Amino acid sequence: MKIKDRIALQFSLIVASILIVFSVVVYSISSNYRQEEFYDRLTNKARTTARLLVQVDEVDKKLLKIIDRNTLTALADEKVLVFDEDDKLIYASVDDKQLTYRRYLLEEIRLNKHIETTEGTNEVVGLYYEEGSEPLIVIASAFDRFGRSKLSNLGNTLLWGLLVGIGITVLLGIYFAGNSLRPIAHINDQVSTITARNLKQRLDEGNRRDEIAQLAINFNTVLERLHQAFEQQRSFVSHASHELRTPLAALKSEVQLAERFVKDDPEIQEIFHNLSSDTERLISITNSLLFLARSFENISQMTTTQVRIEDVTFFAKDELLTVHPTYRIYIDYENLPAEETHTIIQGNEELLKRVVLNLMDNACKYSPDQTARVLFSTDATYCTLKVIDNGIGIDPADQPYIFDPFYRASNATTYSGFGIGLSICQRIVDIHGGTLTVKSRKGQGSTFTIQLKHI
Ligand code: ADP
Repeated sequence: MKIKDRIALQFSLIVASILIVFSVVVYSISSNYRQEEFYDRLTNKARTTARLLVQVDEVDKKLLKIIDRNTLTALADEKVLVFDEDDKLIYASVDDKQLTYRRYLLEEIRLNKHIETTEGTNEVVGLYYEEGSEPLIVIASAFDRFGRSKLSNLGNTLLWGLLVGIGITVLLGIYFAGNSLRPIAHINDQVSTITARNLKQRLDEGNRRDEIAQLAINFNTVLERLHQAFEQQRSFVSHASHELRTPLAALKSEVQLAERFVKDDPEIQEIFHNLSSDTERLISITNSLLFLARSFENISQMTTTQVRIEDVTFFAKDELLTVHPTYRIYIDYENLPAEETHTIIQGNEELLKRVVLNLMDNACKYSPDQTARVLFSTDATYCTLKVIDNGIGIDPADQPYIFDPFYRASNATTYSGFGIGLSICQRIVDIHGGTLTVKSRKGQGSTFTIQLKHI
């Protein structure tokens, strides 16, 4: 579960619990209060009835019954019963046939003097009245219609309030959790775009005060240190390969010069020949390393023009065939461009030629038939170039690494090469804002695809 969702859920649960506890407490306090109040009313009623019966001579039982039924304070389902010491009913506010009461109540009332209880939905109060000549037992019961209806209204109000409150809490929880974690999501997006190639990029440090801003500041410090370490490594490679170039060039010419003096000794000539080709390889590696190191430094100085990808490809083909006349390269369109400009790219012609040449060279080099097929295709945004071969292919385990400098797949070690070409290609395509990908099956061939935005 995402932190955002967890925070929203916890917030909602906490507020919902508080609301539920609050509603239950309010409801039960109101319910108690209603009952207490009603018992008080019933007690008053019982006391008044007993007083009228005992103390006011003019009031006989019939009149009392009429008064009981017709006063404004008459309660729903009201019933007042008065018993004498011998448990004989001496007065009932309702007709005899409706009389029901529990016998043991009388005993209880006599014992406790005042009891409050319930009978079904009715509240019952029992009173031991001792103010007259002989003690009386009064039982008053009624249904609290008004109080209960008020309580049920309160219950409904609380229930709806609870549901609406929980709904609002969930929405607010989602909104606030999303809002407060947005800076983290923002940092996350920025971090995911940082790679070894764009270590100069920095995170947005926001207000530079809160915890998230502190995280961004610290991350930026780490990036700065990483960038410095990368720069040092790069400048070391660049300087080392630059410094090696002059002595290597001198070595090459000296070997070539020395070769002339041993023309009559084939064995020594062979040694010099090997020396010459090893020196050639060393020069080649040094040049590639220098190019790779410098390509990281010179992005901002790269001059760009509008380059037609077909022209670049044909130039690369010509250059490659001059060195390897046995290679066969077929160039075609996968789909014809809808517009002429769809194959024009804003970029550096020399660098792009180097990429295409390198891919065609690899395709022919790693294929027994020394054949490469180049296909162009375009859409409204991109111009795509595929270099296809039916060669040795690349093992899936090697595929993620072939763009790393000096990495060579296990099935390629018998072929010439240093493993630098693809990392240079990748770098050049990167600085043109494009992508270079590979699809390959071992033993069946490979397809390298360059995708670049056209103008
Ligand atoms: P090099 O070809 O000099 O070894 P690259 O950087 O051009 O170096 O290629 C790196 C590795 O990728 C190669 O060693 C090879 O294993 C693999 N590779 C590249 N292109 C192909 C291809 N067309 N077919 C099979 N393997 C390839």
